Amino acid sequence: MAPSDGPSRDGDPTNVPTVRCSQCEDSWTLEHELEDLGLGNDAVEAFAIDHREHTGHFPDDVTPWVADCRRCPDGVERLDEAAARRWARTHARHTDHVVALEHDSRDDPERVGE
Ligand SMILES: [Zn+2]
Ligand SMILES: [Zn+2]
Repeated sequence: MAPSDGPSRDGDPTNVPTVRCSQCEDSWTLEHELEDLGLGNDAVEAFAIDHREHTGHFPDDVTPWVADCRRCPDGVERLDEAAARRWARTHARHTDHVVALEHDSRDDPERVGE
């Protein structure tokens, strides 16, 4: 590794995370989230959720767990597996529907509620 001199596109010496979105062709540093909101490690997640809410998609490197009901249009996307699983279980319990729980790391969706 050569010592960096001159302007660097992604060389920020602090530990402020950067989020990129290829769909928006933009990137953001999360200083505001870290310093003002005190979110720590949740900053990326909070940003991703906000991004999704306002643009309809998640930024790069963020793959949500998707709970998708097979019987009705209900479904959620959660960055936290436990949260997606809880939704799937609860939905299945109350409606008797089978919910598919999907994530990029899985080959096949898990079926919840059978
Ligand atoms: Zn975007
Ligand atoms: Zn359902």
